[in-house]
Amino acid sequence: MTPNQRGIGMTSQRTRDRLIMRLKEQGIESADVLSVMKDLPRHLFMDEALASRAYEDTALPIGHGQTISQPFIVAKMTEILLQGLPKNKVLEVGTGSGYQTAVLSRLVERVYSVERISPLQNQARERFYQLKLNNIKLKHSDGSWGWDDNAPYDGIIVTCAPEEVPHELLRQLAPGGRLVIPVGGSVGQSLRVIDRNGNTFEETELDAVSFVPLLSGQI
Ligand code: SAH
Repeated sequence: MTPNQRGIGMTSQRTRDRLIMRLKEQGIESADVLSVMKDLPRHLFMDEALASRAYEDTALPIGHGQTISQPFIVAKMTEILLQGLPKNKVLEVGTGSGYQTAVLSRLVERVYSVERISPLQNQARERFYQLKLNNIKLKHSDGSWGWDDNAPYDGIIVTCAPEEVPHELLRQLAPGGRLVIPVGGSVGQSLRVIDRNGNTFEETELDAVSFVPLLSGQI
């Protein structure tokens, strides 16, 4: 890693270690998830002006009205997604900064990620290149339609909230696969976990969450 990638002061490894301790205290148990987040420099996934806040456990603006998700939520959703079966092929809807994508890329064989805002996608692509994350494929499109070409997926993670679960995402889930998705309007969103067994889908509702909305179309 370059010195900038390693970080100094508020972006140093020690600051990152403190975040990992807080995530553990809040109940994140997966050693794999904690280890990846301990290594991965979150400060590179945001504007330099905000880098000093990268290891606070909070969502931060990334432009275009979007946010990089709170570290606890990234850890929690990743942990839930990867419980049980190994996840070889994962689809993400909402690349945004690319931080969640990068965490996943170190834990599964191949990550496919769809983003509707082109400049965000381009920035994320550049970050993956700098960090030599070579198992990520990106697509500029409306993720409500999933990414049919590579379906089915062992896991699907959605980082923006639709009002209802898009049917296409259920269809593109492999048997035994798991979808983790926030559902609901600007008030009253909750995190849902949907497991596919053959052609039946079992849904579990978890905690209240607050994500930016899933919007249709692409820009
Ligand atoms: N995982 C990202 C979250 C970014 S916020 C991160 O931590 O940085 C959610 C992202 O979902 C935004 O970038 C937003 O543009 C994107 N998004 C919203 N609706 C979408 C859609 N229909 N298809 C693809 N991406 C979408």
